Amino acid sequence: MKTKTKTVTRIDPLPKNLSPDALLHSLGITVPRDIDIEAIAYYVGLRVRRRCLRCCEAMITGLGNKGIISVNPGGMPQRERFSIAHELGHWAHHRGETVACRATDIGKFSKTNEVERAADQYAADLLMPWPMFKAECRQHRRLDLKALKAVAGVFNTSQTATLIRMIDSSVYPTAIMISHGTGGRKWHKSAAGIPGYWFPKADLDAETFALELLHNPASRDEGFPRKIGADAWFENWAAEKYEITEQSFRIPGEGVITILNLDPNMLG
Ligand SMILES: [Zn+2]
Repeated sequence: MKTKTKTVTRIDPLPKNLSPDALLHSLGITVPRDIDIEAIAYYVGLRVRRRCLRCCEAMITGLGNKGIISVNPGGMPQRERFSIAHELGHWAHHRGETVACRATDIGKFSKTNEVERAADQYAADLLMPWPMFKAECRQHRRLDLKALKAVAGVFNTSQTATLIRMIDSSVYPTAIMISHGTGGRKWHKSAAGIPGYWFPKADLDAETFALELLHNPASRDEGFPRKIGADAWFENWAAEKYEITEQSFRIPGEGVITILNLDPNMLG
């Protein structure tokens, strides 16, 4: 059989709308396992290289509408995917520019650096698109470590990035996540409807398991959520009236994360 060869002139094959939704839509991606971040990068004119970067975790070097994303090799694959998506976020907002990002710039949803926060948000929107993500969350009635591991496994994302997204999902209105290092509380994030007066204490109460995890290297993550008086976590005068659940676990290199689930009556 004879086939005709057609010459196609590619004038500008790169997509103009680089929003996560538009990219996923135009690539026909509807399930989490098809979110191939390197293929998406290629689609928008970017190649991904793994090379040792002395001063940063990842960077993007742009020239016109083409560019190269470089990432430090040897990290966790989930972390690497987030870094690539984060650089893609910089590209979407400032195509053609060169940006270098330190490890502390990526995945921290910085409150002070708007450019880094926007790139993190872009990465989360691309790797964990809301319709797919909420559908997966709804498979798990309670936000606990088991649910977190399951959802992180489906999206191939880190536990920290996945948990932040689960808190933001509005599927778990009573959930709060708190991050602790040896220096005390680092940051926390509450579901949208939780009143601001349920603000976690600065220091860990002796009754909390998180304290044990932080200071005793031999202790292991809590296998299931545990009931505890709300006054172990909150200074608010009303705290002693309520019981909440806590579950703490280690994130290598970051410290201890605790998931609290409040009593629904605490939402006012
Ligand atoms: Zn960045």
